[in-house]
Amino acid sequence: MRKQLTRRALRMLELSISRFPELQGKAMTVGHTRSNLGSAIVPRGDGPQTRWMIRLKVKGLSYNTIGHELTHLTQGLAQIPRSERHKGARTRIPGGEKQCDIWTLARSLLFCDEPPAYLKLPRRIRENWPPYAGRVRALCSAAIRKREKTRLYIRWLEEEFKKLAHEPLRGRPDETQGSLPFDA
Ligand SMILES: [Zn+2]
Repeated sequence: MRKQLTRRALRMLELSISRFPELQGKAMTVGHTRSNLGSAIVPRGDGPQTRWMIRLKVKGLSYNTIGHELTHLTQGLAQIPRSERHKGARTRIPGGEKQCDIWTLARSLLFCDEPPAYLKLPRRIRENWPPYAGRVRALCSAAIRKREKTRLYIRWLEEEFKKLAHEPLRGRPDETQGSLPFDA
């Protein structure tokens, strides 16, 4: 399966996995898909035989897509009973696609190279992404903290995106652009 991944995709994958300490040491299979951006197959247990699998579309591959699929694996980790879980599985990431986007963006600036697929973003932000990436990421982190107090944190977040779209952009867009995504 690895043969179908390009060297560039493998490099991106290695860098991405380094941002997921809870996945270190897991047997992971990486496959190739043509049909969609990516998919993750989450095992039911976490024993030595367990294989964790993601599929990626190499063409146009972004760190955001890789991060999204790896976050799905960590969502799966949260479903495994604590007794079967390996040490180092720290945070419980809630299931769901929007949740997956939020936790992916918040994890590292590396994964902010493209807008998220499932979160509802105003068109102005989606089509003019680089200057907004850092702000969106900060809002995702804030939403994660908010979740401790309210179940409506996703709704709150998407409202904040709307407000953000109405704010004038601060600084020159290319300043932000130049720093993505390698200074994460
Ligand atoms: Zn997904």
